[in-house]
Order: sequence, then C-alpha cells, then structure tokens
Amino acid sequence: MQLLDSRMAIPEAESRRFQNLKKGIEGEKRFDSLTETIQNGVLLLRDLCLEYQHSIFQIDTLMISEKKIYLFEVKNYEGEYVFENGEFRVLASGQEILNPLHQLNRSVTLLRSLLNSLGFQIPIQGYLAFVNDQFTLYQAPAEGLILLPSQLKRFMAHIDRTPSILDSRHGKIAERLRERHLPNPPNERLPKYEYIQLRKGILCRDCRSFMERKGAQLVTCATCETAESAEHSVLRSVGEFVRLFPDKRITTGLIQDWCRIIDSRKSIRRVLSRHYKASGGRRYRYYIVEKNR
Ligand SMILES: [Zn+2]
Repeated sequence: MQLLDSRMAIPEAESRRFQNLKKGIEGEKRFDSLTETIQNGVLLLRDLCLEYQHSIFQIDTLMISEKKIYLFEVKNYEGEYVFENGEFRVLASGQEILNPLHQLNRSVTLLRSLLNSLGFQIPIQGYLAFVNDQFTLYQAPAEGLILLPSQLKRFMAHIDRTPSILDSRHGKIAERLRERHLPNPPNERLPKYEYIQLRKGILCRDCRSFMERKGAQLVTCATCETAESAEHSVLRSVGEFVRLFPDKRITTGLIQDWCRIIDSRKSIRRVLSRHYKASGGRRYRYYIVEKNR
C-alpha cells in the first residue's frame, strides 16, 4: 500500500483502511519500545494471526511469563473519549464507537480455547493498551483491563518486578503458537493496480515525493532536500518495482520508463548489470533478482 500510495489515487475506502493500518503500526511500534525495556524472563510474540475453529483472530502482543500470559490489544486512538456503561463514546459528539473491549475479550476467549486444545493450562489476562499521548478517556475504570498512556510505563515496570522463571513448557507454548501463525491476514488485500495506471518516477526514500535529477550522478528531493546517488535511487526503484510486479521481466527499457528521470539508457543498463544477473540474448536481455537480495 505504501508503495502504491504516491503513484496512484487509492480508492477512498482502501485509503482510509491504509491510514488506519499505518496508524495501528505506529501504535504497535510505540508499544514495542515499552515492552523492550523489560529485562525479566518473558517471551514476546508480536503480530500473531491465529485461527481456532474457523474463527480468525489477531493479537498485537503476547507476553508469556511464568504464571500467566498477557495479551495486549494496542490502540493508537487520539482525542477525548468517555467510558460509560462499558461502552466508549466520542466526548464531543457522544457517538458510540466499535467497542475495543469486545475485540479483546474475543481474542482472549479464542486463545484460551486454542491453548486448551493444545494441552496448555495457563491463565490469560487481556489488556487494552492505549499508547497515544493525545488520548484521554474520561471515567476510565481505575483498575482492570484498560491501560492509559500515563499508566503504561508503570505497568511494564510492575511486570519487570514480578518474579518469572521460564521453562521448556513456556517455550513450547510460544513454539506452538508461532507454528500456527497465518502469514497473510485475509483482510489486507490491495486495491487493483496495473503498470500503465501508476505514476512513474523515483520516489524519495524519506518523504515519498517524486525526485529530480541533478547532473548525471545525483537525484534530489525538492520537498525534503534529500540527495541520493542516481545508482542507489535506481536500485531502490527496481526494488519497489519487483515488489509491485513480481511477475514482470526486468528490462533496461522498462526500468528506464519506471524511473522516468534517468535519460541515459546506458546508465540504467550499467546499474542493472552490476547488481542483477543478466539472462536472455543480447537483444532480449532481462535481469533476474536473486531471492536473497
Ligand atoms: Zn523527500
């Protein structure tokens, strides 16, 4: 989605989903930086997608400690909300939002059933972790499942102080869950796109604006003033091309068209032949990206 974002108009529903996804990932990163401070004996599993009896559920962070498993549902909400009769409302409008506690409870229940079915009996405690400093929840319950931004550090410190000695059983739980992880959540489909409809050019690695050529060796970004060697920027663009079009053959002509701002066919060919394996005859040469690149 990020690769497509600057190159095409993404349909509104998908664009909104993408923004939410991006925000969610930022939130998870923020949460990761908190869990990374824990020195205690715990096992961390992130971004799990699991299935139990045809129900798919995703877990942002799972922390396995000696006596229990902490399951964290991470939310990067911003703004002011009220917690009333177990429901969340936007403070200004009074509008009720999709209750994240329901999602949390569902994940806890499904994980418990899954672990039981695998022969593990260990208590699971679910938490809703709000990570954005710009989030306020009025009438938040003082204790329980909801962790506010101001409470997160203290909560992690508490986990860090709670004695926890792991043995092979804990390792097995982590191993079983990792084995069952589904790599592609079915709801993360991309919008339809074709080569011809995408805007061509080299995108800035820092701000994703289109770059300009400056002399033969350099490309620059007018927006954030990043400068990069032409060679490196072409390589990056080939990388994006391969991600977006894994089935297309990489040829000098196609990459020149894709990069748009490199006039010299020769320099494109030089970059490709230096970094990729050439195949085909002289006239129909194409380049192969090795899997481990
Ligand atoms: Zn830039």
